[in-house]
Order: sequence, then structure tokens, then C-alpha cells
Amino acid sequence: MSSVTSATAPAPEPTSNINGKQLDLSWKMFSNIPGLILYHFKEGNIHWPSVIYFVLVHTTAVMGLFRIKDCSYETILFAQLLWPISGYGITVGAHRLWAHRTYEAHFVFRLWLLITSSICYQGSIYQWAVNHRIHHIYSETDADPHNSTRGFFYSHFGWLILKKHPARVEAQKKIDATDLWEDPLVRYQHMCDPIYPFYTVWFLPAQICHYGWGEDYWNGVLVPGALRYCCVMHFTFLVNSAAHLWGDRPYDPKQVAGENPLVNMFTGGEGWHNWHHKYPFDYACSEFGISSQWNPSKLFIDIMAAMGLVWGRKRATSSWAMSMERRRGENSDASDDAENDKDDATAGVKKGSVPLPKKVL
Ligand SMILES: [Zn+2]
Ligand SMILES: [Zn+2]
Repeated sequence: MSSVTSATAPAPEPTSNINGKQLDLSWKMFSNIPGLILYHFKEGNIHWPSVIYFVLVHTTAVMGLFRIKDCSYETILFAQLLWPISGYGITVGAHRLWAHRTYEAHFVFRLWLLITSSICYQGSIYQWAVNHRIHHIYSETDADPHNSTRGFFYSHFGWLILKKHPARVEAQKKIDATDLWEDPLVRYQHMCDPIYPFYTVWFLPAQICHYGWGEDYWNGVLVPGALRYCCVMHFTFLVNSAAHLWGDRPYDPKQVAGENPLVNMFTGGEGWHNWHHKYPFDYACSEFGISSQWNPSKLFIDIMAAMGLVWGRKRATSSWAMSMERRRGENSDASDDAENDKDDATAGVKKGSVPLPKKVL
């Protein structure tokens, strides 16, 4: 929903610390949730239209669980396929194309991405991309829409049902989104928000099932519609929560975002999040190609490029190689200093200890 918001309340008390940033995932986090909800309720921070929407989303998803046994094999297969199809609308479209402009795409492909991202509705593409640009610029601050320093639950889901933090509101005024508004597909979709998702999320999949192979209409609404939508949505949210909590940070140790292979499995290649926060302009969102790092979203973009529907793909591997060389030089100088001064304990990593990047597919 375009009005999806975050909270004005102070962050919950953290229970652990990563890279100087406060994060938590503990029993305390779970036991804090009722108290926090009550606090936000009293403070008037809850965004009720969003609450009603997500109650609808989760209620229909649970109803879908009980309908699985009544579905035909075709419908189960269709629900499975709709996971990556709609998920790539977000990863390949809203994220890598519109939020970061990592490549350019033909109108036909942009239209496909717009439709498929609408089947996995997470706000209009315009609002999604604006939120995400703010996230990258103001990561782990009050202006970050899903500020992970406020805890796992807040960064995963809580931010969607609370009003915006004032710093987040101010940040949006500084974000340049003219390129998004100039795209007629993005503009018209935003103008129809939030009416269209009620069709694209629940009823479009049902119509395909019903008219395609005679599935019961409500089975289509509840299984490939509601249940698939709820699952894909939460998988995507893991990038904001789990990938900002767990993972190695080989490219930029100062970033909270980490390389998280498990999140990556569920999100089609969005889990290499330390690389992505270091080089957000890289269309692959990972250092390596699919033979080394699971990344079907990159593969999808490459296939579209081979078909002539995508061009201008940007990569950050040369930037990373230069960074490696620079670090080598610094480490080399440090080693020379260490040779000259045996007492210098801050000489750093030894020369040649930083590996060169592998060949990139
Ligand atoms: Zn992030
Ligand atoms: Zn991003």
C-alpha cells in the first residue's frame, strides 16, 4: 500500500550489538512485542488501514492452507511457479530496475515486470523504489523506513503497520524520484494504487486457474492468490530483517547488511546484501555469476539481454578489483613499515593475503 508507514516511537531496547549497530533476535524481542504494540496503540502510532490490509492478507493466507488439499496438481504447480514469477517482479523490476537503475529495459519487459510485481504487491513501484532509495542512503538510522536497529520484528514487518518516523518523512523530501515519475508505467500504476492489488494479488491468479484448467474459483483466490502472496511477501521482507542481522561482511565491514545464503535461496538472489549495500548500482547484486552464487534474478536479466529486451547492465566487479588493489597497496606499505619497525603492531593484513576476485560470469 502506498500509505505503508513506520513508527514515531523510540526504538525498543536492543539486546545485542553488531558492528556498533544495535540488533536483536531473542526471547526478549518476542516478549516485547505485546508491550510495544500497546505502547504504539496508546501513542496513536498505529496505521490502521495497513493493519486492516495485513489482517486480510494473513487471514486469507491461513484459509489457503486449508484449501491446498482441495486443489488440482495444476493449481499447486501454478502456485509454485507464481512464487518466482511474482517475486522477480520485485527483485528484477522494483528493486534492480526502478529503485537502482542498474540496467535499462524495453517497454515490453517493463510492462511484464510491472504486472508481475503487482501480483506480489508491496506498494506501488514508485513508493517501493522511493522507500528503497531512502533505505540505502540512510541505512540503520531513524530515516531508514525499516531501520534494523529497532529490532528484527520492526525491520521485518512492524514498520509496515506503524506511522512514519519524522526523519523518514524528511528524508523523502530529499530523494530525487523524477526518473520514476517520468516513466508512464510507474506513474499510472501509482495513480491506481491501492485499488489494483485486490485484483492482481487475489483474483488474477484465480481467473488463470479457473479458465485455464477448471479449478474452483475460491481455491484459486486462496492458494495461488492469498497463500502464495503472503509467503513471497515474507520471503522478501527477510532481506530487510534477516539479511541485516546475519551474514558475513567481506566487502564492507562497516555495513550492517550481510551476505546471507539462506535469505538468498528464498529471494532469488537478493541475499548477497553486503555486496549490494557496497555496490547498489550492480545489476547482479552479487560479486559472482550464477555458477558461484545462486542468483536466478541475474540469470533472468541476462536472458532478457540476450533477447534484446535489456541493455546497459552495470557491474561493480572492476570497482571491487580496484578496491582490492588499493587495499593490497596499503597493506604492502604497511608491511614495509612493519619491516622497518618491528614494534608496529598495526601493520594490518600481510601482502597478498587479500584474494583477487574470481572470473565473473
Ligand atoms: Zn538493505
Ligand atoms: Zn537495494
